[in-house]
Amino acid sequence: MGGNICNKKRTHLVSIFFAKSSIITMSSSNKRRRTTTSNNNGTHIKDLPDGILVGISSYLAKPSAVLFALSMTIDSRSTQTSKAIISKHNWNVLDFSDIEKRLASKLRDCEIDTILRSIDAVSNLKILKLGGCVKITGSGLDLLRSSVVIQQIDMSLVGKHEAPTIKREPKLSEDIVLPILDDIISRGRASSLKQLELPKKWRDAQSTDMDDFLARYNGYLRNQRYSCSKCDRVCVETGRNEWIGLQRDEWHGIQNYTCFGCLNHFCYDGDCVDGNGDYYVQLCKKCEKVYCKVCISTSSCSNCYRYACNECEEMKTCEGEDCERTLCVRCFEKKKCYYCKRSRCLRCVGHIECQGKTVCIECNQSRMGRL
Ligand SMILES: [Zn+2]
Ligand SMILES: [Zn+2]
Ligand SMILES: [Zn+2]
Ligand SMILES: [Zn+2]
Ligand SMILES: [Zn+2]
Ligand SMILES: [Zn+2]
Repeated sequence: MGGNICNKKRTHLVSIFFAKSSIITMSSSNKRRRTTTSNNNGTHIKDLPDGILVGISSYLAKPSAVLFALSMTIDSRSTQTSKAIISKHNWNVLDFSDIEKRLASKLRDCEIDTILRSIDAVSNLKILKLGGCVKITGSGLDLLRSSVVIQQIDMSLVGKHEAPTIKREPKLSEDIVLPILDDIISRGRASSLKQLELPKKWRDAQSTDMDDFLARYNGYLRNQRYSCSKCDRVCVETGRNEWIGLQRDEWHGIQNYTCFGCLNHFCYDGDCVDGNGDYYVQLCKKCEKVYCKVCISTSSCSNCYRYACNECEEMKTCEGEDCERTLCVRCFEKKKCYYCKRSRCLRCVGHIECQGKTVCIECNQSRMGRL
C-alpha cells in the first residue's frame, strides 16, 4: 500500500515538474529542447547545479528520471549532468506503468532504444515492464537481444491488476519482437530469462509464428530445470505439464509455474498450492496473470471455478445461511433468484431457468405448492 502512495506522489511530482519546466517529453531536436526547458523569466533548469538536479531526479519514477536525465543532454556539461543523474539510480527494474499512461503512450521505439542504451540495459536491466507503451512496435527492444541478465519482460502493456484488453490496437509486432526473444533464449542456460508476459493481442491471434515460438520457449524453460521454490521439485512434473500454454484454451500463451510478482517458480503439488490439486489455481480471470500465494491473495468462484486476485475483483459471499463460499460478480448476478432475490451457491441451493428468469429450487417448490 505504501508503494502505491509513493508512486502517486512521484507521478504527481513528475507532472508538477513537467508543468513548471515545460519539459513535456523528450524531443529529438536540440532546438526544441532549448526552447522548452526555459521558463518565462529566462532562467534555465540547466542553470541549477548537478547536485540539485540529481536530487530532483530521486523523487521521480525511474522512467521519468531517465527521461529527465536525457532531456539534459545538450552540451558536454549537461551530458555530465545526465550521467550524474543516471548513475544515482539502480537500473535493475524499469517499469513504465510507474509513469502516467498519457506519457508512456507517447514513447516511440527510438526513445525506448535511447532509454535502454543510456541505462546500459544489456548489463543492468533484469525486469522490464512496458505498461502503457502502446505506440512501440518493439524495434526499440533490439538491444536486449544480447542480454544474458534480463529475467522478465512484461509486454501485457497494462499496469498492475488491469485487464490486458487495450481499446486501441497496440503496435507491438510479433515479426519484430519474436526474433529478439528467440535470440535471448537461444543462449539456453546462459540466459536468465524467467518470465514473459505476452500481449493479449498475440495470444488471441494465435498465429503459427506465435505457436512455433511458444513451443521453443516451452523447451527453453523446461531445459532451464527451474524448480519449485517450496518443494524443490522440477516444476514441469505437476499440473498441466507445460511451461507456457500451448493449447488453445484460456492458458494459451500464459506462462505457468512462475509468479509474475516475485519470479519464484512453484508447482501444483499438494502443499505448494492450496491442496485441491486444481491447476487453474492462480490464473486471475481479470488481469490474466499468474501469481504465487505469497505475492497476491486470490479468491475462487464456487460456481465457475475461476480465480481472481482480490485486488482485481472483490468476490461476493454466498447468501446461504452460514455459507462462506464466494462467487464472482458475474456468477453472483447469474444466481440471483427472481423471487427471493438471494444469490446462493450451488451447494446451498439448486436453480432452474424459467422463461428467462433464474429461480431457486426452494421458491420454485413453494410456488408449485400454491398451484
Ligand atoms: Zn512444489
Ligand atoms: Zn510471488
Ligand atoms: Zn488479477
Ligand atoms: Zn464465477
Ligand atoms: Zn428463491
Ligand atoms: Zn452457499
